[in-house]
Amino acid sequence: GAGIRFDDVGVTYPNGFTGLRGVNLSIEPGEMVAIVGLSGAGKSTLIRAINGLVPITDGQITVGDVGLRGLSGRRLRQLRSEVGMVFQSFNLAKRTSVINNVLMGRLHHTAAWRTLLGAWSKGDVELAMQALERVEIVQKAYANASELSGGQQQRVAIARALAQKPRVILADEPTASLDPPTSHVVMRDLQQINAELGITVVVNLHFLDLARRYGQRLIGLRGGEVVYDGPGSEADESV
Ligand code: ADP
Ligand code: ADP
Repeated sequence: GAGIRFDDVGVTYPNGFTGLRGVNLSIEPGEMVAIVGLSGAGKSTLIRAINGLVPITDGQITVGDVGLRGLSGRRLRQLRSEVGMVFQSFNLAKRTSVINNVLMGRLHHTAAWRTLLGAWSKGDVELAMQALERVEIVQKAYANASELSGGQQQRVAIARALAQKPRVILADEPTASLDPPTSHVVMRDLQQINAELGITVVVNLHFLDLARRYGQRLIGLRGGEVVYDGPGSEADESV
């Protein structure tokens, strides 16, 4: 996994809204961090700033040894290829197979002609199948993505991120569309991936109980500022 540093990071949107303000954080390689806060607290902004989807207007974010500010387009694409993203709404291509969705994670790691022709290499297919095994969806590899339940779709999205062989996985409210039992399955998958593969995981969670349980470290945001940074088990309702 890669470490992530925030040095005095501020994000002001073009309309003048504050996304983040004076954020200092040091996330160690292989750490799993849960971000909590009310709607509008800055959780999505923080996640998106890490892979350059939101430009920072103050300070610096460093992923591994790469500083994001002033990064060329080519190096930003390189960085994004090493950062897996998981979204609230899964963002799968619904009309194609599960395995094809997972192979999308190989897009930036494989020759363009292969991806255009769908002529994936044996290595790419093996990686995709391994990723599906890890989230226990391998028996659905050739099903259409739309046939899967919400929880299964989210696990396919996690497998797609894994197929990138990422150094970091960023998950933006990955359980927000799921019921509580399914939320736990998805969080356990993320926890296992973190523990067994050493991939750094940063996950936004709307519900404090999930964050307390799965965030060895919990970061609370309010108005774009860090108001809590400590063990999940010690965080109370005020974070
Ligand atoms: P979330 O709380 O999960 O970030 P929101 O409903 O707040 O979801 O935002 C949904 C989308 O709208 C996001 O892409 C976000 O960047 C954008 N957005 C949020 N607030 C504003 C705003 N004030 N002006 C423009 N876009 C916004
Ligand atoms: P959260 O994910 O915790 O709900 P966000 O990061 O989405 O919080 O939003 C933090 C603040 O930034 C909010 O005030 C929101 O309205 C604003 N914001 C988010 N996205 C945009 C955007 N694209 N344009 C303008 N303001 C935005």
